[in-house]
Amino acid sequence: MGLFTMPISLAQLHGLDKSHLAFSERFGCLLHPEAAEALGALADQAKAAAIELKVASGFRSFERQLAIWEGKCSGRMALMDHRGDQALELAQLSPAQTVEAILRWSALPGASRHHWGTDMDIYDGAAIGPDYRLQLTPWEYSENGPFAALVKWLEKALPDTAFYRPFDGSGGVGAEPWHISYRPLASRCERKLTPRALAELISHQEMSHRPLLLSQLPELYRRYIAAI
Ligand SMILES: [Zn+2]
Repeated sequence: MGLFTMPISLAQLHGLDKSHLAFSERFGCLLHPEAAEALGALADQAKAAAIELKVASGFRSFERQLAIWEGKCSGRMALMDHRGDQALELAQLSPAQTVEAILRWSALPGASRHHWGTDMDIYDGAAIGPDYRLQLTPWEYSENGPFAALVKWLEKALPDTAFYRPFDGSGGVGAEPWHISYRPLASRCERKLTPRALAELISHQEMSHRPLLLSQLPELYRRYIAAI
């Protein structure tokens, strides 16, 4: 019986509690055990196609997502443009533009799919050397990038599995071909992640642009969260 037969708590939904997750030795990160098992089967399948499916990022806590948020709001971390290939000048952006630029490429703390243990960023370990520095950029997953074979394989294989890629570039969030999601559990989390739950969370957190986030939440939710 999976843990998710019990209702997921709000703390788990928002990445504040990881008691429902376990460290996966095979993938080197925290994941929901049921998602980790399904991912193992997917990786076995990939192996037959000479692809070494590895995880760059599994669970991410609220605290970590908040650090990314604050890093981008303060200019310590780069803010990327709409296409994801040029850095923006923070000083030239209004608060609303700053928030939009961040949400294009980074989740709102409390609303990341990586909080759930059901989602992961993957790459092909067989396609790169030991010194390769993984960046998770659109180019790496393009036809000319090292992970072209992985992308091609995913396109063929994923529809027959419980995994899918939620960020296909059709919503406000940029395309993330490296991000896969274990649907049976993730869909339950999606249903629980409402604007109301997020407003409740954000109103109790110290974070940059909080008043703007709270006043714009229904619109931001529609553009950057609900589309997933
Ligand atoms: Zn991701």
